Amino acid sequence: CGVFGAFSPKMEPVLEDVYLGLFALQHRGQESAGVSWIENGIARSIKGMGLVHNAIPQGIASSITAHAAIGHVRYSTCGDSILQNAQPLTINYAKGAVAIAHNGNITNSDGIMKYLENRGAIFQSTSDTEVILHLMAHQSHKMPLDALMDALRRIKGAFSLVVLLKDKLIAARDPWGFRPLVMGRRGETIYFASETCALDIVGAQLIRDIEPGEVVVVDQSGGLSSLRIQTKPSKGFLCSFEFVYFARPDSVIDGISVYQARKNLGRFLAKRCPAKAHLVAGMPDSGTVAALGYSEESGSPFEMAIVRNRYVGRTFIQPTQRVREAGVRVKLNPNRLAIQGKEIVIVDDSIVRGTTASRVVSLIRSSGASKVHLRIASPPVRFPCYYGIDTPSSEELAAARFDLDELSRQIGADSLGYIDVKDLVQAIGFPEERLCTACFDGRYMEDDVNGIDL
Ligand code: 5GP
Ligand code: SF4
Ligand code: MG
Repeated sequence: CGVFGAFSPKMEPVLEDVYLGLFALQHRGQESAGVSWIENGIARSIKGMGLVHNAIPQGIASSITAHAAIGHVRYSTCGDSILQNAQPLTINYAKGAVAIAHNGNITNSDGIMKYLENRGAIFQSTSDTEVILHLMAHQSHKMPLDALMDALRRIKGAFSLVVLLKDKLIAARDPWGFRPLVMGRRGETIYFASETCALDIVGAQLIRDIEPGEVVVVDQSGGLSSLRIQTKPSKGFLCSFEFVYFARPDSVIDGISVYQARKNLGRFLAKRCPAKAHLVAGMPDSGTVAALGYSEESGSPFEMAIVRNRYVGRTFIQPTQRVREAGVRVKLNPNRLAIQGKEIVIVDDSIVRGTTASRVVSLIRSSGASKVHLRIASPPVRFPCYYGIDTPSSEELAAARFDLDELSRQIGADSLGYIDVKDLVQAIGFPEERLCTACFDGRYMEDDVNGIDL
């Protein structure tokens, strides 16, 4: 998912900024989108299914003035893809209005939900995010910010949040910092966003990343303060898959350029799995930057062997297998003249179920390539993610089901090569102990049991 928030000391059409910010974050979720603001003490929102421009009428967003607003684009990791689960979620409870937008996945939400339901809570959605609102409402003797801090100390897993209260805009990042979250400024307006590319679109300068375990509060006058979720400092456990696939290449996460990291992944791939080839191509668009790195390192030229229909969204997002397969067919077309008679290296960022890879390899082969070498710019994905990326269970993961040779055969490639976890860590350039690689090596954050201590 993607989150965005804007605060201005003046009444302004800040929803317009949020709309633009969500536009830049569209790659982080295409299922639904929404904006929320507070008007006369009541939390209001506009939400809808699909892409930002389908979900939110721009004219309405532009016509509303407010001090602050938040927004969300959704990609479901838990909970159904329905309007009820679209975010931001809002409540108007004893202590006033709250709107919340969440990127990540709360790993102990089932336990908290059961606990609160036994005490009379009625959940409106099947989204894990709603537990935060209920935990707040459960502490209605406290001021909203204190109730929020209390809630954040009880939840586990991954959360990068923006929260709107009557007189405050808040950004919070879980103690591991799984998902990115940045803060920016344009004039007196403060912005929070999942990625820096969303600051660029509103002309804001990056101030800094929200730190793991940090809660940044913007008060009514635009003053900033910083709180901590936990007392002991956290090293962080940033999601490496953000660099592999999820984030946009023009974003910078915790000081690291996604573009540079992705290009490095391609370079490491060329070193670890060289192939004699006439040309290197990227699987559009997710493999393009790594393919550039592969090409630079190997000396084989980069060519557009496959052309993508740019009006088709990311195929993976579609919920059913049937739609997913049709999605690949309408999305990609081989560039026959570039391919015929050539030995080709095709680079993609990752293999999940293997659908994309098989399809593209057979497309390239049927367009006359003499050899197709598939290269993957990340280690084999063998384990599910519990922190906000929708990787399926191990039984569905191609690399968990087959060994390398068998997978290569299944996909129909002449050869298949991956980088390893060491390469991944080095390519990103982040200390190993501060980087989550659990979907590749099964090393989950040990503290993160699905328990509950309320
Ligand atoms: P597959 O076809 O193997 O199931 O999926 C692999 C393709 O989906 C790759 O081209 C990659 O770009 C993309 N992909 C990998 N992981 C994810 C993910 O977590 N979410 C989405 N939306 N796409 C993914
Ligand atoms: Fe990212 Fe993989 Fe860790 Fe999930 S398990 S947070 S996708 S690195
Ligand atoms: Mg892809």
